[in-house]
Amino acid sequence: MKIIVKSITAHAKWAWKTTTNDICGICRLDFEACCPDCLYPGQTCQIVEGACGHIFHVHCIDKWLNSENSQNLCPMDRLAWKKLQ
Ligand SMILES: [Zn+2]
Ligand SMILES: [Zn+2]
Ligand SMILES: [Zn+2]
Repeated sequence: MKIIVKSITAHAKWAWKTTTNDICGICRLDFEACCPDCLYPGQTCQIVEGACGHIFHVHCIDKWLNSENSQNLCPMDRLAWKKLQ
């Protein structure tokens, strides 16, 4: 007799602990992909988590923080941005 389990698939494939969705709030791209600035082969796009729990590509949040209207705030909730790692 053969039992085929169909429901337990790739659930824990990419388990970021705090986020409820797995796209970058700035560029809206998946964390498994890299940010729009990192489309070159072999380049890795790191991911950073803030104290507020939001996660972004490092290049996206850097770009945001360098922009004048960021005021060093998280773009999602406007809390002071502080990198966790
Ligand atoms: Zn991004
Ligand atoms: Zn990047
Ligand atoms: Zn935030």
